[in-house]
Amino acid sequence: MSGETITRKKKKFTEEPNFTERKTYRPKDVKETGLAFIGHEISEDGKAMNQFLHYDQLYTIRHGQNSKFFIGLLDGKLWGTRCPKCGDTWVPVRTHCWNLDCNLEKTEWVEMPLTAKIHTWTIAGWSGRSSLKRLPIVLVYAVIGNSKVAIANELHGIDPWDVEFGMPLKIIFKPKEERHGIVTDFHFEPTDDWEPTPITEEKERIKQLVEPVYQWVKTLK
Ligand SMILES: [Zn+2]
Repeated sequence: MSGETITRKKKKFTEEPNFTERKTYRPKDVKETGLAFIGHEISEDGKAMNQFLHYDQLYTIRHGQNSKFFIGLLDGKLWGTRCPKCGDTWVPVRTHCWNLDCNLEKTEWVEMPLTAKIHTWTIAGWSGRSSLKRLPIVLVYAVIGNSKVAIANELHGIDPWDVEFGMPLKIIFKPKEERHGIVTDFHFEPTDDWEPTPITEEKERIKQLVEPVYQWVKTLK
């Protein structure tokens, strides 16, 4: 046997980020059960973000090349990505184009408008413990700007029976100090000029379905 040594060096695709901005917002009373976002770190160049999620144990979510989307939420901005070849745009973001003809073209960042349209929706009559008092909750998949995909979030400021497919929405961010760079930093609301259409048989049916939920929530302390 020769004394030759084999070195296996992994090919590096990118330099390791230097995380310099680290925040911890872990509340004092977080138990070892349940889900809580408890901190994040952002690299010196502002391009990479890791988040710390406590869900029975501590997780680190490495956002890698999608980081700009989550850092944007901290700033009250919605970033999407766009293929420079075919122009397709996405929120939630894609790092590479999905069209075969584009041969996995790397996407570029583009700031999205804070407006959307409902693609589909549902009414939640049950939830995790932390949201029970807010029931019933309207959950929508909405298309932001000219995105080719829809993003899920809550719709506030509307009676559940008045929600309609295709209705125009605006995006409302929490106050800056309450944002954590997570999708719940924002929610949807109907646009200011939107008005519900008159009550129909279907609306009446939904109204009757959610009524017991409202009554039950009133009994919660
Ligand atoms: Zn493309």
